[in-house]
This record gives sequence, structure tokens and C-alpha cells, in this order.
Amino acid sequence: MSTDNINPVNLTKLISEAIRSVAGSDYLPLHEPEFTGNESVYLEDCFQSTQVSGNGPYVRKFETAVSDFTKSNYAVATVNGTSALHIGLLVAGVLPGEEVLVPAATFAATANAIIYCGAVPHFVDSNLNTFGIDAEKLEDYLIASTEIRAGVTINKMTGRVIRAMVPVHIFGHASDMPELLAIASKFNLTIVEDAAESLGSYYGDKHTGTFSDIGCLSFNGNKIITTGGGGAILLKSAELADKARHLVNTARINEVLPYTHDQVGYNYRMPDINAAVGLAQMEQLPSKIERKRILARSYQTAFNEISQAELFMEPPKRTSNYWLQTLILQFPSEGLLEGLINELNNMGIMVRPLWKPLHLLNHFSNHPRMDLSGSLQISSRVLNLPSSPQLVEKRTK
Ligand SMILES: *Cc1c(COP(=O)(O)O)cnc(C)c1O
Repeated sequence: MSTDNINPVNLTKLISEAIRSVAGSDYLPLHEPEFTGNESVYLEDCFQSTQVSGNGPYVRKFETAVSDFTKSNYAVATVNGTSALHIGLLVAGVLPGEEVLVPAATFAATANAIIYCGAVPHFVDSNLNTFGIDAEKLEDYLIASTEIRAGVTINKMTGRVIRAMVPVHIFGHASDMPELLAIASKFNLTIVEDAAESLGSYYGDKHTGTFSDIGCLSFNGNKIITTGGGGAILLKSAELADKARHLVNTARINEVLPYTHDQVGYNYRMPDINAAVGLAQMEQLPSKIERKRILARSYQTAFNEISQAELFMEPPKRTSNYWLQTLILQFPSEGLLEGLINELNNMGIMVRPLWKPLHLLNHFSNHPRMDLSGSLQISSRVLNLPSSPQLVEKRTK
């Protein structure tokens, strides 16, 4: 094949043709929500019952559907994924002034939730094998830069306790959980999984977000299923679940007199209206996963012919939901990615780059971090392709 000289104009043409051959000639959004089930029926039921805010029947049904699907012991629904992470970190015992390990290559919300706890994001590196935390590199870094005192890991540079780690299952591909769990146990770190993008993704036969005691989901409009805005905390123990439920419900206690609270809580519980939509969406989840997995294989075939770009396929041992389809440029060069993205967007093909690595944002630039060359490499080579399940003819439901 004679396409090896990287001419951005040629490459744009090849990529757009490959995408169009799979996804058709219409305007192609990055990811569109889809409401083709019982959404209106359940919403109408909410309106009739007038139970629209907290603690109605749909929140309970939705939580049960989520915990049944993920096989988590408990699920607590929240107003969004960010609040789920905030509460997840609080119940994990993260205290003000402590550090939490978080990839630089993630959405800002993951680090913001750490800041909401008064804690400090400590940025760690990721690699192109999974887009998740580079476990081997992290372990070497922790050995060199921390010491364990009285069972707690201390950052030798800052003197602060490193309390927790937040692996993120990027684009729906599970991180290296066995390795990360081993590191967490060696360094006494609590793991809170950010599974916001990975509902329906597994490592082995275990659902993402259930490897540790605490995992978080998002049901924002761009995620695999949506409640408009919403999130959930997956919890292993009844004790943690009670704590989380208490905190998202303004820390209200049931006494004879209402409105008694035993601490400062949060108004983070999911409204019943959103849960009604969520229950209908959960019923359609298997069909969405199936179609996204078909879409991945179709894109893979279409990109087989193009030597400069390769579709990212699920790493070994994983079953991914393929939330966002991802193309990896084989020979990145200065400005190539930006040029491709602009051109494709101009053609009505909505593609997007990775989030700007978080340590490059002004307000995170002074936070502790390890070498982040892997994260920079990912951000210079990755673009997400139009990923709506509607691009594949519905096989089920
Ligand atoms: C979407 C997302 C979140 C936050 O979820 P919201 O529901 O938008 O608050 C957190 N982390 C990651 C990796 C996400 O993609």
C-alpha cells in the first residue's frame, strides 16, 4: 500500500471514507442518546403519582436494576457521576490534606471530586495498552517516592498521606485491575473506581466498578445509558452503602421530629423522574452494548486497510462496552491530530480528542505528579469516532 507518507489531506480522506463506509453519509454526532423503550410510560407514571423528587419507587427500582446488572451488592443513585465520586471518596475515608492518586488522562470531574473532599489530586501516568493507569510504572514510582509509616503511605516529597487511588476505565475499557489491586494492598491505598464510562464493561467476568469496595457510574446524556443527569455509587458492604445513602440524603436521621441531621450532608440523591428514565434505559442496555460491540468490529475492518490509523480493540481478558470508539494514530506529528479533527468536524463527522491532560490545566499545574509521558502520548495519538449505537441496525429489542 502506498499510503505511508503522512499527508494530512490524504489521511483525512482515508479516515472519512472509512467512517462513512461504516456509519453512512449523514451528519454524524459523536454520541447520541436514544429513548426507544418505556421512558414515556414510566415518566407519565411519575407525573400521575406526583412522586417526582427523592425517595420515590423509581429510584429504588433503578438502583435494583443497576446492582442486579453489575452484580454489585448495593447501588446508591445520585444526581450525577461527579457527586457519586465525591461521596465515594468520602466514604472511602479520604480526609482533607491527603493525596489521592488519579490519572492525568481522565475527565476533569475525577480530579474535581478529590478537591471537593479537601484532598489533593496526585497525577499518575497511563499507557496506550488500556488507556488506564500504567501499573508497572506506578509501582516503581511509589517504591521510589514514598515511605510507609505506621501502615500509611507518605509522599516523601510533600509529607502528605497518600490515601486512595482512582483507576478510570477510559472509553469503556477496563484498567489493569489485578495489578492495581495488588499495588493498593502493598501501599495501603483504598481504591475508588471511576466506572463512569464503563457500564457494561468487564475484566474477566467481573463488572467494572465492583473490583474494589466502591465504584462510581455516570448517566449523563453522552454515556451509554442516560437519566438526563445522574450517577450511582456501587458498594460492596451494607455499612458503606448506608453511609453513602445517608450522605446523599442530607444526612437526615429518622426521628420523631423530621429534619434532624447528624452532620453536614449533601442533596445528591437522584430524583424519581430521572430514575424513571433510567429504569427504561437499563432495559435497553444489553441491546446498546451489543450494537456498540458490532460497531467496533465494523470500524476495525474498515480501518484494516489504513496503515496510519488503527482502531483500539478491547485488551486481553476484557469485554468492553465500547462506549466511545477510538482510533490511534500510528505516526503522530505536530498538529496532525488537530488538523484531522478540524477537517472531519467540518465534514459533519464529529470526532474529538482526549481531554487535555489534567496537569496541563492551570489550576492543577502545581499538584504532585509522576512522569506523565504516557498520558501525553495518548493525548497526541487518540481520537474518538462517532459511536452512537443507532449507527448499527438494532438486532435485539
Ligand atoms: C462523565 C464522567 C464523569 C462525571 O460524570 P457526570 O455525570 O458528568 O458528573 C466522571 N469521570 C469520567 C471519566 C467521566 O467520563
